[in-house]
Amino acid sequence: MKVTELEVSVQRRPPSPDPIRDALQTLGGAGSVQVAVHTDEGVSGTGEVGFGRIAGAPDALGALVEHELRPLVLGSDPAWVRQTHEAMLRETEYHGSFGLAMFGIAAIDTALWDCLGKALGVPCWKLWGRVHERIPAYAMVGWLNYPDGEFARICAEAVEQGFHAVKVKVGYPTLAEDVRRIEVARRALGDDVRLMVDANQSLTTAEALRRGRAFQELGCYWWEEPIPADDLDGYAELADALDIPLATGENLYTRHDFARFLRRGAVDIIQPDLRRGGGPTALLDVGHLAHAFRIPYASHGGGPVQLNLMACLPNALYLETGRISADSPMKLEDGTVNVPEGPGFSW
Ligand SMILES: [Mg+2]
Repeated sequence: MKVTELEVSVQRRPPSPDPIRDALQTLGGAGSVQVAVHTDEGVSGTGEVGFGRIAGAPDALGALVEHELRPLVLGSDPAWVRQTHEAMLRETEYHGSFGLAMFGIAAIDTALWDCLGKALGVPCWKLWGRVHERIPAYAMVGWLNYPDGEFARICAEAVEQGFHAVKVKVGYPTLAEDVRRIEVARRALGDDVRLMVDANQSLTTAEALRRGRAFQELGCYWWEEPIPADDLDGYAELADALDIPLATGENLYTRHDFARFLRRGAVDIIQPDLRRGGGPTALLDVGHLAHAFRIPYASHGGGPVQLNLMACLPNALYLETGRISADSPMKLEDGTVNVPEGPGFSW
């Protein structure tokens, strides 16, 4: 089987009038890039990456995929996806195999696995070896722009849906404001729901230590991205000093970034992002690498690709998702969700 065409399509989305916000960024949405690989056997596969912000990013990525990556994929066999993955890393090394380049690699890597699964008529987890029947999931419920009333209502809705764990944003200007917000969440959630907190890289190490101790006392389950993602020394210091598990990874690139954090003992829970990590090929490696260090894997973001991966990772801890709409094929039961059964990454 050979790839005969790689189609790139760019979707631009006008900025939302009511953007969501965390401690670092305002996320008004910017659009997405979809790639489709078509083969000489009539089988196709798709991959998509989205942008929470930066209006020009989808067009810039579309051009990068078209001009830099497409020539490497044409003529390749989807079953040789790992070879194509390595070729894309080698080609982009000249300007850096991260940032937009890695978003493009991830989209193509996803499309190739999807195509391979579809060619064989099996879900991708069947290519990798499955270990879990269902995956525990948590709801990300607490953007900073939500007023208290709406925030409490959304927390309560997540519990009603059957989530056993939720995550809220913190990183307000003061610790007192963070604590107050956590107390609002706790009242809405009751005592039995796990509560994770995420500061989106916004604090100094000293402040992250101070707040981490407070969140530990409040019984929070993990402390996510308290400081800038590349501050390996800072994470190592926090992991040493705090009992609350330190979670990070959504802004790390490639297996090598994760290897540095794992080797230093600078992370307690890894949270790879499909785009920045480099697609299913890289995330599978990252997940197994973390397992070798006895470190759990929690996804950044949800969706069928992460679910196929996590079904095959012994160290899978939590899928991140939003509240689940009634028409979603993903069904929550006892705090866990089902794994897709369709070919490739389809449901
Ligand atoms: Mg986060």
